Amino acid sequence: MLNISGLKEGIVIDHIQPGGAMKIYEYLNLEKMDCQVAIIKNAKSNKMGKKDIIKIEGNLNIDLNVLGVLDHKITINIIKDNKIVGKHLLELPETVTNIIKCKNPRCITSIEQELPHKFKLTNREHRIYRCVYCESKFKGN
Ligand SMILES: [Zn+2]
Repeated sequence: MLNISGLKEGIVIDHIQPGGAMKIYEYLNLEKMDCQVAIIKNAKSNKMGKKDIIKIEGNLNIDLNVLGVLDHKITINIIKDNKIVGKHLLELPETVTNIIKCKNPRCITSIEQELPHKFKLTNREHRIYRCVYCESKFKGN
């Protein structure tokens, strides 16, 4: 059972791959937000052995679907009045902008620094994204 003690209202991002919490912290730009965040690393998990968890207090206006791009095993619990009231189902967005970065050194985005890093979902079943400029492949966990 997920321990949500100390969290009155907010979300719990659960089943993050061990070691993945800091990456998600950065992807969601949580350091720029004025909310209380708790990161739990290497929590015990029956399903995964170990996992990371992030608890975020407050009403958030962030696009959680990007998390599905990074790691499809992530689950998101919505907390109200100290209880889990629902789950946010992650849906893969058709395009993601400035979340994942193209790593191809010959891609135009590595030359033209001001260009947005844009990826398009090309295979929903296998969760494959491709850079719109050079078609480099990205696949999350
Ligand atoms: Zn590219």
